[in-house]
Order: sequence, then C-alpha cells, then structure tokens
Amino acid sequence: MISEKSQSTANIPGTLSAEQIWNSLMEGNKRFVAGKPLARDIVAQRRSLEKTQNPPVSVLSCSDSRLPSEAIFDQSLGDMFVVRIAGNSADPMGIGSLEFAVRILGTKVIVVLGHQRCGGVTAACSGEKMPSPNLEALIQPIMESCRIAKEQHGPEDIIDFAIKTHVRKTVNDLLAQSEILKHAHEESKLSIIGAYYSLETGLVTRLTE
Ligand SMILES: [Zn+2]
Repeated sequence: MISEKSQSTANIPGTLSAEQIWNSLMEGNKRFVAGKPLARDIVAQRRSLEKTQNPPVSVLSCSDSRLPSEAIFDQSLGDMFVVRIAGNSADPMGIGSLEFAVRILGTKVIVVLGHQRCGGVTAACSGEKMPSPNLEALIQPIMESCRIAKEQHGPEDIIDFAIKTHVRKTVNDLLAQSEILKHAHEESKLSIIGAYYSLETGLVTRLTE
C-alpha cells in the first residue's frame, strides 16, 4: 500500500479540481526548491500502476535536461503525462499525445512549461540558419514569438520575453489546432496553464489563465 504521506496528485482522478491540481503542483515545486521531496515507496507505486494510469496532469515542456517535470514539481510514477520537445512548441505528434491524455487517460490540466535561457528560443531569435532541415523545423514555430518579442520589447531581456511569449503562443496553438482539447476546455473539463521555470531559483511561475 502507498501511505497517505507518499501520495502526490496522482491516483485520485476525478476528485480534484484544476485549481487544486495546480496548487498541488505548486506545493511540489516548493518542496523541490527546498530540497525536501516527499518520501515515496516507489516499488509499491510501480506495482499499483501496473495495469492502469490516470495522470491528472499533462505537461508540454522543453526537453532541457535541467527541468524534468517530475523532479521540479516533486511528482512520481503515474502523476504526469509528459510531452517534451526542445522549445516547447505544439506539433501534431505532441498535440496527438495530449489529446490521448485528455480523451483516454482523463487529464484535467495541461501545463505548457517554458524556461529561462531556453536554447531553442535563443536559436530561433538569433536569425541564424540552422544546420539541418530538422533543426529548421524545430525553430520555425518559435520565430513568430521572437518577432513579437522584438516588436513589443526593447533589446534588454528580449530572449526572456520571447520565451514567455512562446509559452502563451503554444497555449493558444493547442486550443486552435485541436478540436478535442478545445471542446474539453469549453466544457470546463480541461485547463491549459502556461508557466515559466527559473533556472536560477528553481521556481515555477504561472503565466496564463
Ligand atoms: Zn529550452
């Protein structure tokens, strides 16, 4: 059995509101920053999840090695359905993965997570040609966020502004490019929250909704 103390957000689908789920993530982020993660019986958790999963949260985050979602939100097995792509853009495979999480697994909250000093956004805003078509495809969706940042912001901290702009753009893209996510959102069955991770402090801050 998993003790009450070792539970985080998971394994209790349907019982928490989107706001409560987000608050639980913020509590986990505080524990991460303080270096005080929950004690967990990982073997018991793994066994309890052998045949099922109902992650209340999905995350679309950058692939950056410094922000694994389960670590920075102090979550565990079965807690989060995670899609990672450098620059946290929404492409068809990422959107399809999130549709699966919402439609089949019962995810109620999608967190779109960008972060300080993102290499993907920095590359997109540099204006430099990428060395392969795949890398070009990776930065292409970020270019518009860079353009908006350059128009609306001075040269100071322009990358950070573009990073936050791109999180908001991705939130909008998920709703604009997916009927499943849009309908779930309209029926108040899904919240999509844009957020920003600080490499300096370890803190996650909310940008949208
Ligand atoms: Zn990044």
